[in-house]
Amino acid sequence: MPDSARPASLSTLAIHGGRETGAPGAPVVSPLVQSVNFLQEIGTGEGLRYTRYGNTPNAEVVQRRIAMLEGGESALVLSSGMGATACALLALLRPGDHLLTSQWIYGGTHRLFFDELTAMGIEVSSVDPEGPRNWRRGVRHNTRVVFVESPVNPSCRVIDVRPLSRLTREEGMALVVDSTFASPINFRPLEHGADVVIQSTTKYLNGHHDALGGVVIGSSSYIDEVRRKMIVWGQAPDPFACWLLERGLKTLDVRVKRQNENAMRLAEWAETHPRIARVHYPGLQSHPDHRIACTLLNGFGAMMAIEVAGGGEAAERMLRKLELVTHAASLGGVDTLVSEPRYTSHASLSSMERAAIGIPDGFIRVSVGLEDVEDIIADFTQALEHA
Ligand code: PLP
Repeated sequence: MPDSARPASLSTLAIHGGRETGAPGAPVVSPLVQSVNFLQEIGTGEGLRYTRYGNTPNAEVVQRRIAMLEGGESALVLSSGMGATACALLALLRPGDHLLTSQWIYGGTHRLFFDELTAMGIEVSSVDPEGPRNWRRGVRHNTRVVFVESPVNPSCRVIDVRPLSRLTREEGMALVVDSTFASPINFRPLEHGADVVIQSTTKYLNGHHDALGGVVIGSSSYIDEVRRKMIVWGQAPDPFACWLLERGLKTLDVRVKRQNENAMRLAEWAETHPRIARVHYPGLQSHPDHRIACTLLNGFGAMMAIEVAGGGEAAERMLRKLELVTHAASLGGVDTLVSEPRYTSHASLSSMERAAIGIPDGFIRVSVGLEDVEDIIADFTQALEHA
């Protein structure tokens, strides 16, 4: 990167950030170094490279790049988003400590907290993030970490991390934010007072539905501790996944901006459709967090949800008729994907429990892709005729 007075913009960082300037003849694209073992100097342990240590050349370049994109000191790429969340929290919590989490979190994260961390002697309790005073009421003498996901999977609610960061600073706790739904193009939590950011890179950062990964961003001393956990719990990424991630990152800025535009258009269209009872998208004025989203986010994102009038059976009839839009779990890639949380992230809840948290039967999550949005709309239009 040139050392000029003008800071590089995110689109430039996404392509060049963290790359070492090469000598003439060096490849423009990072070579894939699949080797697990590396020649080592005799008589010292310094500079030991091993894939499980997360210090392969392909891991290091994406780590430097993502730290720049999020505005953090350091980043560590791991084998999955779940691996990132697990190691991020294991590096912060000891038995006897308390983790205070938002109730609105991804199902896998919920199981990690309430089944696994509690079994290790860590106290975990959750807060309804709707009430601003609920957070302070939830704090205990041993609370070390506050965890939120924003925007929230699958409701697309946006939690304001700014008042939360004032609380965590006051109380000496760490604020950890999973901002997978936004990517750093739309939301950089560290700029709003978070201490740690987690992303499932499987989603927008890779963006092509072909590589699993996760990343933790924070201070260098903290990331060293996360690395120690990653090494012993065996959560390091494979070099090829890092290579694919680097390739995906190069188009992150253009992809996400176009996906934001597609989603806005699709959401506005969906709001007028008689067979869609409700649209959940932070860019719409009807969204309960629209005002927060306007001041917190740089883009409203490409995740939305629709509620098909007629409930679960009508939704299924529509899903069976989609031709372009794909019914598949996961999100954040170039293809538009739809899924029903009642069969994926929220399968363990009853229909009534899901309805109580705003996910009634007929609720379909949409990850808006890069296709021509008019083609996406045409596909939903014909499929909804069967709802
Ligand atoms: N965080 C959020 C918000 C997610 O939606 C997911 C997966 O869907 C994860 C974390 C876990 O990521 P991964 O599937 O890469 O382990």
